[in-house]
Amino acid sequence: MDLCILAERILTISAPGIIAHGAVLVRGGSIAAVGRAADLHPPAGTPTLSLGDVTLLPGLIDAHAHLMLDGSPDPLRTLQAEDDSQVLLRMVHNATVLIRSGVTTVRDCACRNHLSLALRDAIRGGLLVGPNVLSAGRVLTITGGHLFFVGRECDGTDALRHAVRAEVKAGVDLIKVMGSGGRITPGGANLRRRPQLTADELALVVREAHGFGKRVAVHAHATAAIAQAVAAGADSVEHCLWLDDETGFRLDERTLERMAAQGTFVVPTLARFFPRGGAAESGDPLMRDIDPLLPLFARMREAGVRLVAGNDTGASYTPFTDLVHGLELMARFGMAPAELLRAATLTAAECLGRDDVGALAAGRRADLIAVRGNPLDDVRALWDVELIIKDGQVAWQQMPGPGPRAPLA
Ligand SMILES: [Zn+2]
Repeated sequence: MDLCILAERILTISAPGIIAHGAVLVRGGSIAAVGRAADLHPPAGTPTLSLGDVTLLPGLIDAHAHLMLDGSPDPLRTLQAEDDSQVLLRMVHNATVLIRSGVTTVRDCACRNHLSLALRDAIRGGLLVGPNVLSAGRVLTITGGHLFFVGRECDGTDALRHAVRAEVKAGVDLIKVMGSGGRITPGGANLRRRPQLTADELALVVREAHGFGKRVAVHAHATAAIAQAVAAGADSVEHCLWLDDETGFRLDERTLERMAAQGTFVVPTLARFFPRGGAAESGDPLMRDIDPLLPLFARMREAGVRLVAGNDTGASYTPFTDLVHGLELMARFGMAPAELLRAATLTAAECLGRDDVGALAAGRRADLIAVRGNPLDDVRALWDVELIIKDGQVAWQQMPGPGPRAPLA
């Protein structure tokens, strides 16, 4: 069924600037046309949704989330106390909260027992309202390595090859591999500073996954692990903190150059380290202060690395409401509102290898959000979502009246 949506301002993202007094024509879950209302001529009798003084833009994309986690200070405690049926219900709840924040596509970057595939398929099949989920399924890690308790522990190229094939067989959308340690894993804080795999092992994972047409996201905090990921041809580097093997940060210019040349995406996930309200992650001396990190990300931006929105949503202190907080942190290293909007829409879609989301353009899915104000002036306008449309259907709508106009504390 056709629907014509009218708004004062439309941000297509695929074209620069604003369309004033714009219209989006939706047909069967996809966008049929976008333009000035005066130039579009919907068939007579097409239902019209007139939104007035709002900005209409593509639904947001969170490129790094864990729907199995609860975003509390200690999400692993919750996870380990729950069985799969409880976790799956929690994931349904998290998906609902996420779409109400304006996120219509999410990449789940590691889950227990392929529960994210069940959630993805339920949403896709119309059983639930939620964001479009792209799932990495179970993460690949070494024995005892980062997130081993939900991942596939594999050592050596044969085991890694088998793991990639088993994940592809299970139906994942991408492969996620742990290139270095991570703090959430007990005892993992210092293992962030070095690679978990050999260069050959990581290269094998990327080659094998690409052979099946699957993208590869590499979790890498360590400078050496980032270099390995880029040399292996990984599609995205997650976190990318440039931790050297001593105590500080060390950005490797040669790796950076190669990232820019290859078009490697980086998902900084800064909100996970610097949560809203300043609830610092307890006991992590590296992450008390964002200032030493800002020049590293400013340098990546300047070099032309494609930076993507994603909060590591669900991890400690990282609720399913806060993608915009991650954008606010990215603004601190110099990204302008237009770049931030792309990072959370079109660039994120490219990172995910999807040409059906991320922009308001004919042929793409009708996933749109309406916000008060103009996010091209101030990205904080994205906190104030009025309406969410997913696949051409209203997924959520703010109640009329003087409701909350600021993020809930
Ligand atoms: Zn993560």
